[in-house]
Amino acid sequence: MRMTDKTALITGAAGGIGRAVAERYAREGARVAIADLDLAAAEGTAAAIREAGGEALALAMDVTDETAVNAGVEAVVARWGRLDVALANAGIQHIEPLHTLSFADWRKVTAVHLDGAFLVTSAALRQMYQQPEGGCLLYMGSVHSKLASPLKAPYVAAKHALLGLCRTVAKEGAAHRVRSNVICPGFVRTPLVDRQIPEQAQALGISEEAVVRDVMLKDTVDQEFTTLDDIAEVALHLAAFPTAALTGQSIVASHGWYMQ
Ligand code: NAD
Repeated sequence: MRMTDKTALITGAAGGIGRAVAERYAREGARVAIADLDLAAAEGTAAAIREAGGEALALAMDVTDETAVNAGVEAVVARWGRLDVALANAGIQHIEPLHTLSFADWRKVTAVHLDGAFLVTSAALRQMYQQPEGGCLLYMGSVHSKLASPLKAPYVAAKHALLGLCRTVAKEGAAHRVRSNVICPGFVRTPLVDRQIPEQAQALGISEEAVVRDVMLKDTVDQEFTTLDDIAEVALHLAAFPTAALTGQSIVASHGWYMQ
């Protein structure tokens, strides 16, 4: 087991990628806090982890709410005494061209991805800097941290910005033994992606099959979706990596869609 006695907080972990990472961490011996807007779903995920023999805590958290994020980190420390890994994963999508995108929708998307990541970072660092062992900050970026697609401006902008946040954490955190890295998945079949297939089909005037074939998977080497297990494996590798040789990096897992 690669995360024995580690404590991890994952935002947006009630479902999708966050849940897959939480389940993987728990199987590797970590105690995991499942933080999500949807408390009932977070409770369900935590219960499933406990039934599988793991240790988990569900937390109601809107990552755009500073008080809620701080309270979530405090709850983890109150329960388990420390915080070793924080993964800013909560995310939403909005499909619309820039010329009609409202400022409100821009702010809604960037608030969850970027402001949320900042709030998780600052709350986590305050705790990790008190621990002699330091800790690990992780961000759920995307291939859209590296390149742009039409109709996703606030998402693409926020995902690019996470690279800058991560690199700054790597520099400031080094003296406190805090590492920081970004996970950049290609398309993974989760509710976030399933919702945007019909939306993109409508916006682009093409069929849903064409969105999958000609938009989402067009530039992969094998026309395959990335899986939840693929991303959980990368998240485990980054969390369990033993030294600061791996910090300030972004790892792309996308079936070759983006090669850096
Ligand atoms: P998802 O919709 O399945 O899960 C997102 C979770 O975040 C949900 O449980 C939701 O309740 C929660 N959430 C949303 N807003 C929140 C908020 N304000 N506070 C707390 N929780 C909130 O999506 P997913 O595909 O699992 O996405 C997870 C992350 O992975 C996102 O950051 C997304 O951008 C990123 N990502 C996804 C893909 C993909 O193809 N699915 C690819 C690259 C990156």
